[in-house]
Amino acid sequence: MTNIGDYAPCPFCNATNAEKVKFTWWGGLLGPKLLKHVKCLSCGKGYNGKTGKDNTTNIVIYSIVVAVVVLGFVLVLFTALGVLMYVTK
Ligand SMILES: [Zn+2]
Repeated sequence: MTNIGDYAPCPFCNATNAEKVKFTWWGGLLGPKLLKHVKCLSCGKGYNGKTGKDNTTNIVIYSIVVAVVVLGFVLVLFTALGVLMYVTK
């Protein structure tokens, strides 16, 4: 349920009719939830509904963290695969 006035006013146009974002290309389902990402219905821009500030910096940090986690996971996977291949040689 989304009530008008639940979120901080838009930092771009000062409107208060923001809507919760459920899914984004940068954060999937979890990202916008973690960053309290909302979308302004007046200008269509996204921002942090809790702080009322532009969320771009948080999105960049989130993307880097996700990239590092994914990269770390792939690295561990390949290391395990390499060890497995070495052991079963
Ligand atoms: Zn706006």
